[in-house]
Amino acid sequence: MTRKQKKMVARIAASAVLLVAAVLIPYEGPWRFVLFLPAYFVIGWDVLWKAARNIAHGQVFDENFLMALATVGAFCTGFFGEGEYPEAVFVMLFYQVGELFQGYAVGKSRKSIASLMDIRPDYANVERDGQLTQVDPEEVAVGDTITVKAGERVPLDGVVLEGQSMVNTSALTGESVPRQVQPGDDVISGCVNQSGLLRVRVTKPFGESTVQKILDLVENSSSKKAKAENFITKFARYYTPIVVFCALALALVPPLFVGDWVGWVQKALIFLVVSCPCALVISVPLSFFGGIGGASRQGILVKGGNYLEVLANTEIVVFDKTGTLTKGVFNVTAIHPEEYSESGLLEMAALAESYSDHPISRSLKEAWGQELDASRVGEVEELSGRGVRAQVDGRTVCAGNDKLMEDIGVKWHPCHHVGTTVHVAVEGKYIGHIVISDEVKPDAKEAIAALKAQGVKKTVMLTGDAKAVGESVAKDLGLDEAYTQLLPGDKVDRVEALLSEKSPKGKLAFVGDGINDAPVLSRADIGIAMGALGSDAAIEAADIVLMDDKPSKIAKAMEISQRTLRIVRQNIVFALAVKLLVLALTPFGIANMWEAVFADVGVMVIAILNASRALQAGKK
Ligand code: ADP
Ligand code: MG
Repeated sequence: MTRKQKKMVARIAASAVLLVAAVLIPYEGPWRFVLFLPAYFVIGWDVLWKAARNIAHGQVFDENFLMALATVGAFCTGFFGEGEYPEAVFVMLFYQVGELFQGYAVGKSRKSIASLMDIRPDYANVERDGQLTQVDPEEVAVGDTITVKAGERVPLDGVVLEGQSMVNTSALTGESVPRQVQPGDDVISGCVNQSGLLRVRVTKPFGESTVQKILDLVENSSSKKAKAENFITKFARYYTPIVVFCALALALVPPLFVGDWVGWVQKALIFLVVSCPCALVISVPLSFFGGIGGASRQGILVKGGNYLEVLANTEIVVFDKTGTLTKGVFNVTAIHPEEYSESGLLEMAALAESYSDHPISRSLKEAWGQELDASRVGEVEELSGRGVRAQVDGRTVCAGNDKLMEDIGVKWHPCHHVGTTVHVAVEGKYIGHIVISDEVKPDAKEAIAALKAQGVKKTVMLTGDAKAVGESVAKDLGLDEAYTQLLPGDKVDRVEALLSEKSPKGKLAFVGDGINDAPVLSRADIGIAMGALGSDAAIEAADIVLMDDKPSKIAKAMEISQRTLRIVRQNIVFALAVKLLVLALTPFGIANMWEAVFADVGVMVIAILNASRALQAGKK
């Protein structure tokens, strides 16, 4: 409990004692209300103050105003009939208990998000002048060497220079199996080094590190409001004044005909208490907050409540192939040179690809396996969906698919091997091809099935890869449709066509690896990026980021979003139903002030308890 909360508990206790004392003092008469003033002001001074301040700022109608009006009104009726003094104090008291509870619930879910996002490193051990010094991670520059001891959090993104270890990525990915790293491997800030000592060369300043990106993303997520949240804010804006005027009418109109002014004013006050919209105003954002928190616990970063809403209604899921459904790690299955030796061809391809981060490039460099002499490579151009063009030893080398060969007018030879074929041409002359093949991710098939079970109507694969490869993967995984040999622009066209196919309410999600699919990611109703560990483009372009490479997390994310929306809907229906019922009963004198307080605060407490279930969504 915070200090503020402890203070409130003390105020509640003091006010309760004063209230009981006032009730017990046997003084009758018009000045009896004075006995209740200490109890009232102890508990209610801040509400009165806020109401007055808001009126001064021109924002009259909020819950402070409702509560102040209702309780002050209850005091005033005492002059004219039987006083409702204990009720007035009790309304305030209960209202504050509700507020306290609400503050506690919000604080708790914020804290639990903060703790699962507890990935910010406190320090880095940097090597300076042959000595290790502990500094703030922000002070470490790119190119510095840091040491990460066993048990420490990796403070910055970098490459392992020395040492072998297991690193635990669970804070980032929700994945509990640690990852093995050795020299040459990338390590990402926020992971925990479990066993050995690692020396790491820093590759990114702290401001651009994975940790910082994730923290920014989570912090900003509450600014992107779901429709339901906006609706509630708007609703409260109109609802509260309407209620006040209804109460006014209730206090003034019936007594003109039937008399009993005091009785009607009391009914109007009850009406005011019941109608307080806090249950909704608080529980709806809290539910979305919880849903986002629960998802991040699973390594699913959702950039805002609005995306949870969209995801829950997803009808079509479109996948990119390479790196999304497949591992994006290609093995070389054949090398067919027309000139050069096999290794000469491979070296030429690796040199041409040396500056690209495409999975194919990385795999070819991996297959070549030796240090590449960067000085041999000049100007490089990436031709997305086709390949690369680079100056190697002063000659133009092109490596890519048949489309690229046709573009540059080189006659290529088809290969009988099934797989992705990378053709290589030097100075416009064909020198052979390399056949590579990828594997599907272990959970890809299960992921597609889970989406179907979740109510997704159609799953589609779009790929720039060859027809044979693409179609065989799609068939293996049980996708409904597959479109192959697409350039990035064609993928956008395909997505447009699919967008027009879905029902008006249904949504289309695109899942990519963030490499050359930013246009499609942003064109889809919702963009989901895979394997964000290390990929900046993905974190920026997508609405939802899956921190591990697992496509099965999409179904999980859908499940969480549907659950969150269900909770929101339950709260709205429940709160409105109870309030409308009590409101309808008040004019008939059936509900009294006590019931009104219970209806208001009780509904709020139940709604908040229900909302906090959203956070549990991430627990296994
Ligand atoms: P996907 O749609 O499967 O993610 P891309 O759009 O990235 O694939 O690429 C489509 C095709 O373009 C690849 O299958 C490959 O034939 C060719 N290609 C793309 N980039 C490269 C590259 N760097 N080197 C060689 N070929 C490439
Ligand atoms: Mg791709």
